[in-house]
Amino acid sequence: MIIIMESEATPFEVDNVVAAVQNKGWQTHISSGSGETIIGVKGKGQPLDPFHLEQMSGVRETMAITQKFKLVSRAFCPENTTFDIGGVTVGGQQVVVIAGPCSVESREQLLETAHAVKDAGAHFLRGGAFKPRTSPYSFQGMGEAGLKLLAEAREATGLPIVTEVMSPDKVALVSIYADVLQIGTRNMQNYDLLNAVGRAHKPVLLKRGMSATIEDLLMAAEYILAHGNQRVMLCERGIRTFDNKYTRNTFDVNAIALLKELTHLPIIADPSHAVGVRRHVPPIAMAGVAVGADGLAIETHPNPDKATSDGDQSLTLPQFSELMIRLRAMATAVGRTM
Ligand code: PEP
Ligand code: MN
Repeated sequence: MIIIMESEATPFEVDNVVAAVQNKGWQTHISSGSGETIIGVKGKGQPLDPFHLEQMSGVRETMAITQKFKLVSRAFCPENTTFDIGGVTVGGQQVVVIAGPCSVESREQLLETAHAVKDAGAHFLRGGAFKPRTSPYSFQGMGEAGLKLLAEAREATGLPIVTEVMSPDKVALVSIYADVLQIGTRNMQNYDLLNAVGRAHKPVLLKRGMSATIEDLLMAAEYILAHGNQRVMLCERGIRTFDNKYTRNTFDVNAIALLKELTHLPIIADPSHAVGVRRHVPPIAMAGVAVGADGLAIETHPNPDKATSDGDQSLTLPQFSELMIRLRAMATAVGRTM
């Protein structure tokens, strides 16, 4: 339920309503950016009587949230959620860029990439230390040694780190090194993992399952918020369609526009996994910014042809730096900064 206050409601009236709701055992979330104060009611308490609430001084109306997703919904929190990660604001005016290799492979590879993407203007460094690979015979990631290299690269460049966690028992370990916990497409509906990152004290980048509907994605995010973690970014990374000859996935540009309407959480576009072909990554990245994404995740590698994973879709370091110039112009064209 949400409680919409009159625009001239006083802080005293708001406090009174909050106290009445909390006395019944519920938690509240106040949002007051758009002129009127909206009190979101969450948790589990004794039944609330909407009629009684509407009689309280300063209350305009109460409304049940009819969608299945509650805490992530725009109705619950009308303003965009913004949060700070290592000095970078996500979800605000600035479009943020997460760049780096698919996998952490070596100290040299990671540090060279980190310095180059930082110089080009990226805001975060990405790199997988635990890799979810289709084949058990493919490179599975460097594990904790890779996490240590990511921490060293953060030390050297100041870039906060985004890296994947694949299982609940690794959340504590990855949290020691990471600034953002990434949940990969294959784990979007791993509910034990969602609950575990919901209890963690780190922001989460939740990637859309490759065959997940928009509602599936929002419901997955709902798990994380319901377990207490509000700092969640959603990532459109391409979905499976029928063409896998020319394109790895299909970038669902609709999803970004729809998600911006349905949820207050920041939305990230990942053109690399979406299209899977290096030369097509720049135009898809531009489309992501054009349609309103709050950030991009772009795979970059000093020598993509030698990469242990996703080389075909990784930009070279000069290509990334050239793309950043074009992305800045696109951000300006849509009233954002980068
Ligand atoms: C990745 O970011 O390298 C990755 C494995 O992504 P996804 O889970 O979207 O395939
Ligand atoms: Mn990858």
